[in-house]
Amino acid sequence: MVPCAYSESVKNSSQTTCYCRELDSLKLSYQECCQRFHDGRADGSALPETAEQLMRSRYSAFVAGLAPYLLATWHESTRPQELELDPQMRWTGLEIITTRSGGAEASRGVVEFAAHYLEGQREAQQHEVSTFVRENGAWFYLDAL
Ligand SMILES: [Zn+2]
Repeated sequence: MVPCAYSESVKNSSQTTCYCRELDSLKLSYQECCQRFHDGRADGSALPETAEQLMRSRYSAFVAGLAPYLLATWHESTRPQELELDPQMRWTGLEIITTRSGGAEASRGVVEFAAHYLEGQREAQQHEVSTFVRENGAWFYLDAL
């Protein structure tokens, strides 16, 4: 058994909590959450099963500065030529508001979310309804409604 004080401190540590779980009651670590998708995209060894998982892993990639992952998971019909991430952006968390479809058996999904960030000292958020498609087992970000 792990003493409560210890597990609480681990649970509250932002170093172990995945970027996409900062605002979540479920404090999965980066290793338990998005890392396998970031690592597994190149050889297809670990792909998100749901549109929400892809959404989470893309948010985490924004925070971690993983532009190649963002491009790789962007549908080719809407993918930009290149992507420059702003290193000054201070993301503070992801809030999944609703998901429609996008489950393990679906080929399309819709995820409404708010990505929180700091603008100077102020909290701000980017609210978006994103659509996703799945092709050959892999989910891709398509566009925003
Ligand atoms: Zn995550």
